[in-house]
Amino acid sequence: MASGNISITKLNNIGESRRRAFEKVGVATLFDLIKYYPRAYQNRGYTMTVSEIKSELSSGTREIFSAVLTVAAEPQIRMIRRGMTLVKLRLFDENGACEATFFNQTFLKDVFHTGMTFRFWGKFVLSGGRLTVSSPIYEPVIEGRELPEIVPVYPLTSGLSQKIVASAVSGALKILLPETEEILSGKILEKYSLPTLPYAVKNIHFPDSEEALNAAKRRLMFDELIITSLALGISSKHAKCTTKFVSNNIDTSQFRKLLPYKLTGAQERASREILSDMSSGYAMNRMLTGDVGSGKTVVAAETAYVSLKNGYDCMLMAPTEILAAQHYGDLAPKMNTLGFETYLLTGSTRAAVRRNIITALASSTPVLVIGTHALISDDVISEKLGLIIIDEQHRFGAMQRAALADKAPDINTLVMSATPIPRTLSLIMSGGLDVSQIDELPKGRQTIDTFVVNESYRERLNRFIAKNAADGHQIYIVCPSIEESHEKKQARTENPEEMADILLTDEPADEKIPLKAATAYTAELRRALPDLRIEFVHGKMKSSDRDQIMKSFCGGEIDVLVSTTVIEVGVNVPNATLMIIENAERFGLSALHQLRGRVGRGSFKSYMILVSDAKSDRAKERLNIIKHNSNGYSIAEEDLKLRGPGDLFAENGFMRQHGESALALASKCTDTELIAAATEAAAEILSSDPLLNNPKNNHLKQQIETFTRKERGTIN
Ligand code: ADP
Ligand code: MG
Repeated sequence: MASGNISITKLNNIGESRRRAFEKVGVATLFDLIKYYPRAYQNRGYTMTVSEIKSELSSGTREIFSAVLTVAAEPQIRMIRRGMTLVKLRLFDENGACEATFFNQTFLKDVFHTGMTFRFWGKFVLSGGRLTVSSPIYEPVIEGRELPEIVPVYPLTSGLSQKIVASAVSGALKILLPETEEILSGKILEKYSLPTLPYAVKNIHFPDSEEALNAAKRRLMFDELIITSLALGISSKHAKCTTKFVSNNIDTSQFRKLLPYKLTGAQERASREILSDMSSGYAMNRMLTGDVGSGKTVVAAETAYVSLKNGYDCMLMAPTEILAAQHYGDLAPKMNTLGFETYLLTGSTRAAVRRNIITALASSTPVLVIGTHALISDDVISEKLGLIIIDEQHRFGAMQRAALADKAPDINTLVMSATPIPRTLSLIMSGGLDVSQIDELPKGRQTIDTFVVNESYRERLNRFIAKNAADGHQIYIVCPSIEESHEKKQARTENPEEMADILLTDEPADEKIPLKAATAYTAELRRALPDLRIEFVHGKMKSSDRDQIMKSFCGGEIDVLVSTTVIEVGVNVPNATLMIIENAERFGLSALHQLRGRVGRGSFKSYMILVSDAKSDRAKERLNIIKHNSNGYSIAEEDLKLRGPGDLFAENGFMRQHGESALALASKCTDTELIAAATEAAAEILSSDPLLNNPKNNHLKQQIETFTRKERGTIN
């Protein structure tokens, strides 16, 4: 698209003030306009008669309609109070009458005249047998000119209206469509039944029909997915870099002897993949994923051991002090037995100890340093640092990960994530890293009985908390927010465009459920259960205070820990037997599954209770997935089908890393087959042309270059 970079000011009707308004929403060029996708669509083509609307309204299924009506009389204008005028318009069709009202739009007296026919679209109300519609959208019905059935609804900002955006987009399409070139081969289009690119670009904005719109969406999502997959695939091929940190000795039998159990088959496989990287001569760039409790730590520890054994230092970075301390407590004795020093370095490490660690790193003896982001600090370096392991990697920003990796360009890195990534997304979400999956739990793990209850169970729930505490066990309660409940702003019905946005987007109907504000809730709970030691932690607390409470909980000095999701990160309290989630409908399924992983870590029977008053089928369905399913991977797959990858991307820091723009449509795609198809097609292309040097892939390569430029823009 040679004209793609032309400024939108070349279009008719775009002057300086509109240019500035468009700039606010990130639109500067014609190409940006084409990518400025509608956020919803109004189906105005499905018109109904007055009597049909009346009967629909009395059955209460919907309130937005489209109707073709004729003006019965000249508009009446009334001043209803100072500065407020009301335009009343009497309308009719072949079987009934209706009245339209407009506020402060006196110019309408020159628009509507007796006998003229319009298509009206808006929220209709039936009261006392009379049908009215307030501030509808109106379009003149003119012989020989068809009105579009499906109309785009664009995201707006002040200075932009639907009309302004639609006409600008239409102007841009006129210029760009004739020069839009197909980027996919005919073979791919046919195999996955995709329409051509020009067709898709036209129909995503101005669909000819609902089918055309769906086909256009599919095609453009496919493009976003395949380009992302290709870009990441290519970058991982480029990234293979030779390293001087080669582990020639990968015999781990001494390490294995220290374990009280045998590794599972999945752990064995992951370990083999990792050790083969470590000895390959190329720097390892691998992600280790596995459900909570699948035993990633021991695999990472074995990797650390191999690095040490071959004479290289190793750093293990965890997202919180508690987790770092837990890893230290677990690994230091093992490494000591094997003859290697292990250190703990966090923000609260005393200066003298810190100096010791820096000296140890500078010495010729290899050491393991476990810590928090304190490890990123510039003076914590070593010439012989051969391996970096990052636990719960999604907790770190892309920049923090990059900063640690920057310590040496050819360093081996292993990042761990407890968020099970659906297979269909793993290529995209692993960011081009090689992936090892531990998809099996150690034998003999107990299942956690999971229940979904509503507010009416409150008293029984409190008794159950008291019972678990009386048995000497501990309880987690997780709330979604620390602020007092807030309700979504009421839909304003005065403005039909805004109303349309609210009613036609895919969001589930807003259920007004008061959020359990954790602070107030803690007070309430202390009154209800005065004998229990109840404490509260949240993300906005000073981290030293939070760590203090977490330590007390780990030490058994607190019975009930109320918190926001800060405890999600891998703490290990085997004595905890009950996990209660308030307003469970507000949590992502992966997050719920992670939280469930916090209990049942000891030998005691454990429970998770999801408290929710949500009424929508969708919310209930989601909670039932958790209730009936204990496998993180299948939960992630189900979640993907219900929500699309957008939330998964966000929860895993993928959005932060890659910017939402690159996956504008695909982040909402719930069609897992399409995602799988796009990644499959990408893999196929790369298998025959790994760096896209073949001229027939030239168009794709150009798109990928645009994509990667955008990516860099969002990272810096
Ligand atoms: P995660 O993958 O969530 O980080 P951990 O590494 O913390 O899981 O392991 C959870 C628990 O499982 C630990 O107590 C660990 O000792 C134990 N474990 C790990 N591997 C095995 C195994 N193969 N058999 C039995 N227990 C294991
Ligand atoms: Mg872990």
